Amino acid sequence: MLNRMIYAAVIFAMLLTIPNISLAVLEDKFDIKDEATTVDIESSNEGDVKESQDTADDEMLETTSIEEPDLIKVYNVKTNDVMVIDFEEYLKGVVASEMPAEFNIEALKAQVITARTYILYRMKKYPEGQPEHTDAPVCSGTHCQVWTSQEDLIASHDDGWYDTYWGKIEESVNSTRGQILTYEGKIIEPLFHSASGGRTENSEDVFSASVPYLRSVESPYESEAPKLHGSVKVTASDFINKIESVYGDLGLTEDNLDDMIVLGEVSEGGKIKTLLINGAEVTGREMRSIFGLNSTNFSFIQTGNEIEIVTTGYGHGVGMSQWGADGMAEEGFNYKEILKHYYTGVEIVSMK
Ligand SMILES: [Zn+2]
Repeated sequence: MLNRMIYAAVIFAMLLTIPNISLAVLEDKFDIKDEATTVDIESSNEGDVKESQDTADDEMLETTSIEEPDLIKVYNVKTNDVMVIDFEEYLKGVVASEMPAEFNIEALKAQVITARTYILYRMKKYPEGQPEHTDAPVCSGTHCQVWTSQEDLIASHDDGWYDTYWGKIEESVNSTRGQILTYEGKIIEPLFHSASGGRTENSEDVFSASVPYLRSVESPYESEAPKLHGSVKVTASDFINKIESVYGDLGLTEDNLDDMIVLGEVSEGGKIKTLLINGAEVTGREMRSIFGLNSTNFSFIQTGNEIEIVTTGYGHGVGMSQWGADGMAEEGFNYKEILKHYYTGVEIVSMK
């Protein structure tokens, strides 16, 4: 048999005993939209006049006692300077860096609100400055949230990008001015990722803490995500060497992998928490790191001397799925519905 889907078969067999998880049955996730009818997201009416609806909603937004700063200090990782810039202007350089401007405006608005919330969360958490850049609560790099100057954005995009998209970026910030996310009155840490692969993760399955608003939820509209399905191919000997260089001699050979690798725990979001390799516990995160996988939702396919590791989703899977947000927006959901879907039990409130 040329195509031995041995590990997928092992994982599949084990998953038969775990309800609601279709990890190894990747085909189930290929056509996510087909599953949309089972998802518990309130449908919005088609043809909503969103602007007027949003305006009406905005009038009812609760105002918090949290004051919006006029200016923000940002440590610029490119110039090594601490910049002091207008708070809302800063957000334009963040949303343009963190999400493609081609995305639906409602998804961009959702991203703006996560960006605005994130910076306030950091300012509150590190009143004396973030330990790695003590003069500023955030930096402009991936360490915090990415901010890019307008000049650099223009240089890094195709001609015409500014004329086509800058107005939309401005609108996403201006139309949500001052809005942030809270849970029980407190500013949340609004984690997000590229694409979950169909279901997001409970925070404790990826990071250490269980956070009430970072719960596993369906993410059914990600089919446009370019990295939804990934694949890494290695020879069986490389596969074994890489694992054994970290975990020592586990007695692995090209011919015994299917017996030696057994699925351990799977998260509610369908990602592998642990594998047992000849009795040694290996986490999905470690496998992701060793093989540079897009996510910890993976299965193995062995064909002779070649191992293909097939992944679903991109990123840690916690909080808002960006491609899921864009997919929801395309389905007619507004930014508030998107945020309330991905962040369980949160409120969208206005700062003073
Ligand atoms: Zn930073």
